[in-house]
Amino acid sequence: MKILTRLWALLLQRCPVCLQGKVFNSLFGMYKNCPHCGVLFDRETGYYLNAMFFAYTIGFLIMIPTAIYLVIRDVSIAFFSVAIIIEIVLLWPLIFRYSRLLWLHIDQMMDPRTPPLSDKKQP
Ligand SMILES: [Zn+2]
Repeated sequence: MKILTRLWALLLQRCPVCLQGKVFNSLFGMYKNCPHCGVLFDRETGYYLNAMFFAYTIGFLIMIPTAIYLVIRDVSIAFFSVAIIIEIVLLWPLIFRYSRLLWLHIDQMMDPRTPPLSDKKQP
């Protein structure tokens, strides 16, 4: 059941620690700290470098059905390339967000951390 809660939080783009606070404050902008629990998202310099591998993987997986369809339609290599580039560029906001979210949640599962104590969140 806990994994379903985490998957739901991932889908809704929520904090990997409290599973409630929003991670993004604009299309490509992230909060520095979770607005709900206050945990710092960026653990260290270069922290999101690993998210790049998720972005490559997600982009590749998204590209496969389109590539298969275009190969079956026997389009030219130029059309194929342009179609794939347009698809990836249009979906880039989703790829960017979910690659970072995947990394945040997987990192939280591998190396759990607790939210910092905050006076404003105390009852
Ligand atoms: Zn949080």
